[in-house]
Amino acid sequence: MANCKNCGAPLSGTLLTCEYCRTRQDVDLSLVHRFTVEEPCSKRICPRCHIPLQTVDLRLGEKFLIERCERCLGLFFDPGELEAFLNKAVTNVHAIDPQRLNEVQNVKRRHEYPVTYIDCPVCRRLMNRINLGSRSGVIADQCREHGLWLDGGELRQLMEWMKAGGKMLHREKELEMARLELEQEKKKVQFDRIDAAFSHTRPEPSRGPQDMDITLLPLIGRLVRWMFR
Ligand SMILES: [Zn+2]
Ligand SMILES: [Zn+2]
Ligand SMILES: [Zn+2]
Repeated sequence: MANCKNCGAPLSGTLLTCEYCRTRQDVDLSLVHRFTVEEPCSKRICPRCHIPLQTVDLRLGEKFLIERCERCLGLFFDPGELEAFLNKAVTNVHAIDPQRLNEVQNVKRRHEYPVTYIDCPVCRRLMNRINLGSRSGVIADQCREHGLWLDGGELRQLMEWMKAGGKMLHREKELEMARLELEQEKKKVQFDRIDAAFSHTRPEPSRGPQDMDITLLPLIGRLVRWMFR
């Protein structure tokens, strides 16, 4: 467990600010991961502080560049980068720990910011809010074209979630969803077949006069004769 850089108090996992002195901690990178600043002022803008983001290298064997806000400690990942980072940073998870997942999910850190839509650091259009993974408790902001914004502390939370088997749980749920969808699709096909079978026994609605039932002809003949009698 890490300690507050200001007062030395122990920090509980994913909290961004020290519970004792309220000092903001870089729980995502400084305390967890080595990184070097590649470019202090990129063209990308922090959606929270509206200042240029710095480009940092997470040094995962090879260059791994993401953007980071020095002030609020938020992070911006290009599409696919976050998953690549998590897969490299958190390995050897073999079991789901439901209790730990509960703890991770219920961290109230998100309330540091009001629930609102924020701008993409690249195109400045409003991003979508998306739930990341089953029960991670992380709601990230995503621009489909440019990437994903995590507020300070959220990367750490995702790493804790991965360690507790969150991704395994997510996969299980995805499989379950796929199974249910398949079942529904099967049922639909069965219903369609039953429908088709029934419609065969029904008379066709769009028969022309030339198809008029042969058995009706003598009756019509009798009617006509009766009318002209
Ligand atoms: Zn402190
Ligand atoms: Zn910021
Ligand atoms: Zn964008």
